[in-house]
Formats: sequence, structure tokens, C-alpha cells
Amino acid sequence: MRALPAIGALSIPSRAEPPASDASLADAGGAYSHKGLTYPLGRKAPEPGEAIELAPGVRWARLPVPGSLKHINVWLLDDGDGVAVVDTGLDITPCREAWEALLAGPLQGRRPTRIVVTHFHPDHLGLAGWLVERFDVRLWMTRGEWLFARMLTADVRDAPPREAFAYWRGAGWEEQRIAVEAAKGWGRFASVVTAVPVSFVRMSEGDVIRIGSRDWRVLVGSGHSPEHACLIDEAGGLMIAGDQVLPRITSNVSLSLSEPEADPLGEWLHSIARLKTLPDSLFVLPSHGEPFTGLHARLDALDRGHRGRLDALYEHLQEPRRAVDCFTVLFGRRIEDNSLGLATGEAMAHLRRLEVERRAVREVRDGVYFFSQASAP
Ligand SMILES: [Zn+2]
Repeated sequence: MRALPAIGALSIPSRAEPPASDASLADAGGAYSHKGLTYPLGRKAPEPGEAIELAPGVRWARLPVPGSLKHINVWLLDDGDGVAVVDTGLDITPCREAWEALLAGPLQGRRPTRIVVTHFHPDHLGLAGWLVERFDVRLWMTRGEWLFARMLTADVRDAPPREAFAYWRGAGWEEQRIAVEAAKGWGRFASVVTAVPVSFVRMSEGDVIRIGSRDWRVLVGSGHSPEHACLIDEAGGLMIAGDQVLPRITSNVSLSLSEPEADPLGEWLHSIARLKTLPDSLFVLPSHGEPFTGLHARLDALDRGHRGRLDALYEHLQEPRRAVDCFTVLFGRRIEDNSLGLATGEAMAHLRRLEVERRAVREVRDGVYFFSQASAP
């Protein structure tokens, strides 16, 4: 079994909320509400190889992925005599098998017409190249996501670049942990993603894409990935949300090695505000978890959660702290080695946000970043 890279979409597991307890369900088999969200299909979800119709011409399928995510949802949109596919799973045998079962079952006689990928993360993009080649169709992505995917799949090396060591040291990783990470090489992204097509169709903010009898408007979000595409069919009351809004887990928002001076949490909060301009009545189709209504309640909760963590982190910075000193405050628990990369990225995103807001200042000692409260102006 290949060592899988962190799948990128993940939140830190401690923040995943468990499903509602049975007691809170009006009917264990039917619709229920929890924390302001309503799940019209209850706990019903497609098994690998099954597809559930959510609205005329819109079907939901699931592919298995390893780790705490367990699955990714993909959407099959009627498109003339075929189907447009939205997101594709990882390039691992269980995902390929699930596609074969879909193609031989619910999709029999209806070939994919185009492959739409919300963002570059491998659970979304992994099998796009395989599907594009097999059915001789186009890949549809935003330019930022496609370029990122092309860049990452092209950059495979034996050892991590200098910048990676600087990032890990800066965050406070111990030398021994850095050595373990470095031994894994660089470019593991490419190991779970089929070759990214050389050509693609660009999706841009505000574009309206006609698929079958529906018009989908592209809304680009940022913070979880550079130019994440959401697709909104306002007339039909549907939103394909990707990882931009998830019902139970918070999407990973990490400071990336590519842009260590960026402010991904600022971009994420800005995206949440933009998404709040959408109708609250939309039926949201997320990449992980179950379709739900209650978009505004979820966006408010996400916004509150991040701002609350920023405030708690600010209090924690009465003493100078490294990113690794902030995990307990941010995640409420110790972080094991397999979550260290994600936790570090999230902690750095929150520290960087405080720095941008001028609530924190950074001091560099021997390459290690220490953050502390900015003195009052
Ligand atoms: Zn993602």
C-alpha cells in the first residue's frame, strides 16, 4: 500500500461533529434537523456503485476514500444524452472500482460528457485525467486550480525543497520530526492523481454553464484552495458546494508553503461573507457529509468558529508561542504525527491572520517563528 499524502480536504478530526444522536431524530429513516441544518434525506446515502436522484437530472454518488473522511460525494448531472461528472475521487483501486460499478450500473449507456472539478485536492481531482482520457472529453476547472494541479504533479523530487525545511522549522517542528518527513520525499500528491490533462476549459467567477436543462453559475471561493469553484443553480435551488461549505466538519484552511506570506484565513472569511449573499433556501450538495439546507446557519457557525479560535489564540499569545505551541488552544487536544502537517498549516493560517490584523507580531529566533500579542497602539 502506498503511503497516502494528507488528503488536504480534511479538517482536524477533533472538530468533526458526530451525527445527531438518535434521540434528536424525528424519524431515524427520514429527514432530521441538527444545529440549524436540515438533512432532507436523513441518513440515506448511496453505496459505492449506487446513485440517488436529488432533483430531476441531478444524481448523487459516493466514492470511498481512506482516513477520517471515509468518502467523497460526486454529482452526476444530466447533459443531453450523457452526464456531466462533478469531482472524481482519488486514483486508488476502491475509487476506480466504484466508477466501474457506476458506469456499468446507473450510468449504463450514458457516457460522461465533461469532467468538472471543483478544486485541485486529490480526492476531487484524482481520477479526472483517467475519465477525460477514457471518454475523450474535456476537463473543466478554474485556471488557478488547474495550474496548481499541473504544478504539483510536475514537481516530484527525492527530497523536499529548502523552503519546506524552513517552513517546518519556522513552525517549531523538532529536527527528528523534520527528518522523518523529509525521508518521505516530495511530490506525493502525484501518487494519488492521474496525469492532469494538458488542456482544460476554464471556469471563471460569474460564468453561467449550461448543463442539460440547468444553468449553473460559478462562484469562486478561496482559503481552502486557491480558486475553488462552487456551482449554483438558483432557479433550481441547488448549490454544488465542493469543500467550500461542509455540514459537519470544518474545511482545512492552511497556510501553504507556496505562499508563506498569504492570508488564507482572511480569504476564507471573505468567501464565507460572499456565500452569505446566496439564498438561504438553497439545497446544498457538499463534497463530504449529506446534502442539507440551512446554508446561512452553517456559514454563520463557520465564521463564529474561526473568529472564536482567533480570539482564544490571541489570549494564548501573552507569552511568545510557536505554531506547535498553539495546537491545544486551537484543536482542544494533542496532535498526533499523522495530523501534524494539517494542524501546523491551520495553526499558521490563524497566526498569520492575527498578524495581518495587527493583533500579533512575529519574532524569528534561529529560524523559528515566535508570535506574541502586539502591544496596544
Ligand atoms: Zn478540498
